[in-house]
Amino acid sequence: GQCVAHCPVNALKENEAFNPLYAALANKDLYTTVQIAPAVRVSLGEEFGFKIGENVAGKIYAALRRLGFNAIFDTSFGADMTIMEEATELLHRFKNNDNLPLITTCCPSWVVYLERFYQDMIPHFSSCKSPMMMTGLLTKRYYADKKNLDPKKIFNVAIMPCTSKKEEIIRNELAQPDGLEDVDLVLTTRELARMIRQAGIDFANLTPEDPDSLLGEFSGAGLIFGATGGVMEAALRTASVLSGGNLERLEFESIRGLDDIKETKITIDNKEVRIVVTHGLVNVQYVLDKIREAKLNNQETPWHFIEVMACKGGCVSGGGQSYSKEEQVRERRAKGLYHDDEKLALRMSHENPAIKEIYDHFLDAPGSHKAHELLHTYYTAKPIK
Ligand code: SF4
Repeated sequence: GQCVAHCPVNALKENEAFNPLYAALANKDLYTTVQIAPAVRVSLGEEFGFKIGENVAGKIYAALRRLGFNAIFDTSFGADMTIMEEATELLHRFKNNDNLPLITTCCPSWVVYLERFYQDMIPHFSSCKSPMMMTGLLTKRYYADKKNLDPKKIFNVAIMPCTSKKEEIIRNELAQPDGLEDVDLVLTTRELARMIRQAGIDFANLTPEDPDSLLGEFSGAGLIFGATGGVMEAALRTASVLSGGNLERLEFESIRGLDDIKETKITIDNKEVRIVVTHGLVNVQYVLDKIREAKLNNQETPWHFIEVMACKGGCVSGGGQSYSKEEQVRERRAKGLYHDDEKLALRMSHENPAIKEIYDHFLDAPGSHKAHELLHTYYTAKPIK
């Protein structure tokens, strides 16, 4: 108590966040699982002397194994799953001209902001859970079953670039009827760095390892989720194919980078789908006000699909990432993700074999009744504090 009160940098208090995790790792009755978000891999290296934006995913998987986790997964897998559901949702709404524009919801800061300040926009929100929640849910409800594990004995951790993700896991709207928590604990990138140091792991010299199957398999589309425009680009790669058409193109340069408002178009069923990507809450207001104006004047919506991230640059610049004084840090971390996407053989969510397996054996099809029951959520207007 006294030490916590007197610790000048609050380090002792932050360490308390690790206690349940250390207890879980030491408890032989528990099976510990962990996922890492796309953005974490292009920031954690900075804590150990690597260049900004260098992708150290392989070393992170290796470090997590040394820390004692039983299975290591990747949130980029959940991002592929989110894309399957969200692209299906877009096609459905577009065909029926229903609640357009569709707005992305994987950023919990943005979700809470909208529930408070733009309540009239709630019907436009995608009902898809975030990649973190989808990976968490499938860990306890699919992986556990496959491996004959009792889901109640799984302790499931998520390493995130973001402090808001700690709030997301306790949202009432995500509570499961049987009381099982899909994700038990969120640690930030900086907290993981501290754990690695406390355990005395020589991070810089670790030999890179692979994540575990099945929830560790991902495409380049899932990986670029960590940068502004990435969710949209991933969705566009898959939407044209799911609509029965051909892939228009793989890369959407015009929605990459740090411009405040970025736009592009694709064609579905010979009709134009107008897209906008925005990041940083000031820019979001501009986009939402335009939509409100169109609605009030009974005009056609200026856009059909909108990606919003609360942090400027997207999750690569999240509040849980390594601190940096470097000006171009956002750009360099995003480059780290796009560079890796280019190198991967698998670049579209619908081609991920793990995703195909889960639909074939568990969820039936994207947008199915079961998929809705498990992978979708809802939003509630909240009082302005
Ligand atoms: Fe968190 Fe920022 Fe990413 Fe939103 S954009 S999920 S607040 S890191």
